[in-house]
Amino acid sequence: MYASVIIEYGAKAVDREFTYIVPLEFRDKIKIGHRVMVPFNSRNVEGFVLAISDKYDGKYKLSEIKELCDDNPILNYEMLYLGEEIQKSILCSKISIYQAMLPKALKASYGTNIGIKKKRYIKLNISYEEANKFLNECKYEKQIEIVENLITNDKMAAYTLTSSINTLLKKGIICEEFVEVDRYHSNISGKYKIVTLNKQQQDVVDSVNLDRYDTYLLYGVTGSGKTEVYMELIDKVLKLGKTAIMLVPEISLTPQIVDRFVTRFGEDVAILHSGLSDYERYDEYRKIVDGRVKIVVGARSAIFAPLKNIGIIIIDEEHTATYKQDTNPRYHARDVAILRGKYHNAPVLLGSATPTLESFARAKKGVYKFLTLTQRARGGKLPNVNIVDMKKEIKKGNFILSEVLIDKIQEKLDRNEQIILLLNRRGYSSMLTCRDCGNVIKCPNCDITLTYHKTSNTNRCHYCNYSVKNVKVCPVCGSSNMKDYGLGTEKLEEELNKIFKARVIRMDMDTTSKRGMHEKIILSFGNHEYDILLGTQMIAKGLDFPLVTLVGVINADSSLNLPDFRSAEVTFQLLSQVAGRAGRSEMDGEVIIQTYNPDNYSIVYAKEHNYLKFYEEEMKIRRTLSYPPYFYITLVNISSKDYELGFSEANKIGNYLRQNLNSDTKVLGPTVANVFKINNVYHYQCVIKYKYDDKLNLVLSKLDEIYKVNNKIDIAIDVNPVRMW
Ligand code: ADP
Ligand code: ZN
Ligand code: ZN
Repeated sequence: MYASVIIEYGAKAVDREFTYIVPLEFRDKIKIGHRVMVPFNSRNVEGFVLAISDKYDGKYKLSEIKELCDDNPILNYEMLYLGEEIQKSILCSKISIYQAMLPKALKASYGTNIGIKKKRYIKLNISYEEANKFLNECKYEKQIEIVENLITNDKMAAYTLTSSINTLLKKGIICEEFVEVDRYHSNISGKYKIVTLNKQQQDVVDSVNLDRYDTYLLYGVTGSGKTEVYMELIDKVLKLGKTAIMLVPEISLTPQIVDRFVTRFGEDVAILHSGLSDYERYDEYRKIVDGRVKIVVGARSAIFAPLKNIGIIIIDEEHTATYKQDTNPRYHARDVAILRGKYHNAPVLLGSATPTLESFARAKKGVYKFLTLTQRARGGKLPNVNIVDMKKEIKKGNFILSEVLIDKIQEKLDRNEQIILLLNRRGYSSMLTCRDCGNVIKCPNCDITLTYHKTSNTNRCHYCNYSVKNVKVCPVCGSSNMKDYGLGTEKLEEELNKIFKARVIRMDMDTTSKRGMHEKIILSFGNHEYDILLGTQMIAKGLDFPLVTLVGVINADSSLNLPDFRSAEVTFQLLSQVAGRAGRSEMDGEVIIQTYNPDNYSIVYAKEHNYLKFYEEEMKIRRTLSYPPYFYITLVNISSKDYELGFSEANKIGNYLRQNLNSDTKVLGPTVANVFKINNVYHYQCVIKYKYDDKLNLVLSKLDEIYKVNNKIDIAIDVNPVRMW
């Protein structure tokens, strides 16, 4: 008997299957999908069995499988199928997809050792009569105490083995029992109340056919009650005896959403988010595999949750860029959802107040079924939005906060209401320059300026994490005339504390890097322990604080200036999302947007809450420039430590693509990538634009084959990128 095994080995994944002999002892047990230990290049490595057969006609001398790592196969039939399909569509290595599907404890890798946590209990190993007899004869008080306890309580937890317990165990009077325990427990506040759906919500629920696959787009304004719709649909699916997956963006996997799901569905829910330790994640995963939960709520990778009999897959905030993984394998959760929806014959529901142009265009064409919620569920109006022209404010000497924003903040503070401020840049200031020689402090490894962090008094690179103590004198000319420019969340926090007597809390990557901090900040702001919450885009999504009546956007231009054809779309989405945080209860909300581009259409339409107008305007531009959704895009990123070699190979690749792809496919470049140098590696890229190209997969696969064995050049292929890099 022979098994075909796929393994992960070396930096560039060996994406090939190798044949091994299945030794006698494993023959009855081994199945496709099993994780096995095999010898490879004089080492033992783990891999997955992809096929089993009785014949081998090759000419190599084969080795034997060393070990079956688990009792049951880790990859089921559906996962194997998904692996094949995803591999074909995004041209990544198959092994990388299988790894992405699994929690760390089950990945085929070397030396992971994540076990199941078990709690030790002790219980009587003898009859009550015998126990009573023992009590009469025993002289040791501690032993008597234990046995008496076990007569009344059946069993008790024993964290450590005391000498009394050991003696009793040895004598056979008691025995041990190990019970699996979950390491993760979500807390619920009990604040959430189940609501009755309004007519619009009910119509949406009724329009979703649960008996067949279709993709639906639910376009619903912020606060229109989309989450309630999702929960109702999930409820219906559970009643049909099926299961459900709901994806939410990582940063909105907040206590709030967990609260709502756990309150409504209790033990039926598994929550998968990055705040879980590897151990907790493994526990949650096993609950899913064992069928102990019926609903999985999680971020991107939860799309692979091995639920059986899926009845619906929901993707909330479908426009979120992080649904696409930005490292290998570059899969998009939406595409995986659609594959799984078809596989299970179950609907896929995409929801957003600001759908991607791609999804909205598909809904318009009827590829997706269109559903909509036009009104806020609690009746409140969409907030009033004011735009402040910062070019004018600067002339008045207001560099950070405009007059109106200061007045409004004070007004809300006086009324004991809450305020959210968005500033999409962490750190204190964005760059440090020398006023005498003009030198800008840059990362030595990257083509990027360092950000000054006042709290830690360091200058840090936001790309490679390089960090250096803050410099007081210019390293080039020795002048001490250094000046910092730009505004980060730390500086804003300082400014707020200077101007207002208020309780201010900051939420960004720096204040939430410790586990649990993210939840803690949200909970305490929700409990009104703070008046102002300021932060980066992680505050923009999903949060629902009834007392927030003012949202301020400090610098709307940061996303507008991104070198990416989606910069207007991203800006519109961000502004709409953050504006949606205001006035979610009976109190009306207000939004103030500070910008240097007050006339930009993405800002103007965000002010008007006019998604449709924005969509039309942006579609015109996309059509003119041949961008998605009119054309598909694939990026080929070429990187090397050697600047010149990278450049010449990138040129070769550009020519190769031009010569071998269809004639109406456009190949742009190579050009230098947006961030040219990261961690001492230089990046070039070619952009391929096409409507349909039957040669693309083959040509790119060939390219991949060629460079897999080249250790001076790396290429990365990003099919349908969500951001240009
Ligand atoms: P969305 O997901 O569209 O932003 P949510 O589902 O979070 O909207 O709903 C916004 C707020 O309105 C929540 O506080 C929610 O409890 C409330 N809500 C939703 N539907 C109803 C309803 N039918 N009746 C009363 N309140 C509702
Ligand atoms: Zn200088
Ligand atoms: Zn760097």
